[in-house]
Amino acid sequence: MRRDVSEFVNRLDVEKVSGLLDIPEHRITGALKRKTLQYVYGRRELFRFDKPVSSIEGGTSVFTKPFDIVRGFPKISRTLMLYPALKRHFSSCRKVAVEEKMNGYNVRVALIGDALVALTRGGFVCPYTTEKAIDLAGLDFFKDHPELVLCGEMVGPDSPYVPKTFYDIESLDFFVFDIREKITGKPLPVMKRRALMEEYGIKSVRLFGEFELGEAHTGITRIIKELGGSMHEGVVIKDPQMVMPSVKYTSSESNCADLRYAFEFYNDFGRDFFFGRVCREAFQSVEWGEDEAQIRKRCQQLGESILVPMLNTIKKKKAGERIAENVQIRVKSLDTVKEFEEYLRLVGVDAVFEEPEKIGDEFLVRIKKMHQSTNDRTEAILGGQLWS
Ligand code: ATP
Ligand code: MG
Repeated sequence: MRRDVSEFVNRLDVEKVSGLLDIPEHRITGALKRKTLQYVYGRRELFRFDKPVSSIEGGTSVFTKPFDIVRGFPKISRTLMLYPALKRHFSSCRKVAVEEKMNGYNVRVALIGDALVALTRGGFVCPYTTEKAIDLAGLDFFKDHPELVLCGEMVGPDSPYVPKTFYDIESLDFFVFDIREKITGKPLPVMKRRALMEEYGIKSVRLFGEFELGEAHTGITRIIKELGGSMHEGVVIKDPQMVMPSVKYTSSESNCADLRYAFEFYNDFGRDFFFGRVCREAFQSVEWGEDEAQIRKRCQQLGESILVPMLNTIKKKKAGERIAENVQIRVKSLDTVKEFEEYLRLVGVDAVFEEPEKIGDEFLVRIKKMHQSTNDRTEAILGGQLWS
């Protein structure tokens, strides 16, 4: 699929990109050579930053026809010890705004020329998400604010990336958590952003409130305990002016849910998910001053989240099943299915699409994502292969 792209490199106006992003031309040509700045084949031609270059976030997309740039979404750091971290990180703010951290996938919606596109975290245009975004965000906002990007979470069961059923969403819904300038990435203040979304009838993530810095940790701890009980992920804590970078903090329940997922496909994801998540549990337990019974419960939940899904995977393989993840999408147009299939191939996801099933005026398509590495490793070990 990936051909030699050197012939396409001259389609990028390096001087213009350098000027707009305020980085030297040689950093851009260097990134092109190293393929950190990659040409992407597809219905919409673009170059994407695969990793950060100077101050430019990974996932930044540069469109060629018409020329435009959408900055990548910045990484959000995590606090493990809430109280000292908030005090230190937000020392210049009197208050912090606390919003729900929803568990779906990160999407940036922008107007490029006269068409809406939905970009994934990595800076690819996802055809499925674009179809949904046209419905969920609409064009009105962008007609008035073509220079802005809506950053939000796509959440719900019809998600090919992070399907979740506990939000009481029928298919897929879009919740905005940030509005930024396309080219500079500069964010709007929290309340201004929320008011703007209200004005255009676009949903925002839930706001728990603004807290005095010295009291925020008590409120947030209470919120996290409540959210965890219903599997919700956690919170993102923000400078109301959006000058200081935001910080995330999550529940143990959602942490364990991630581990259950990762260890079902242990050879594909297990390692990446493991260490950081164990650390989170340890610091949270100490900060909350847990007693022996609470610690035991936490240990049991953590252990079960790792081992039980893995045992199930091994048993499945032993029974001759293939190790795959079932997801589904719901679309209005069958063209979107074809485009999405091409797109998954482009980003290197091995997936098998079932025949579309008509439901009302839409089509439901079940997709099996193959996790080949876990599949092969499990089969080999069951057949007697040694671990190393
Ligand atoms: P990173 O740490 O690089 O941001 P990650 O994949 O590790 O990425 P997460 O742990 O899911 O990400 O946390 C950050 C992500 O949380 C954001 O990229 C965004 O998609 C999502 N998110 C959900 N709700 C919010 C919110 N209210 N404010 C900001 N981000 C949110
Ligand atoms: Mg997430």
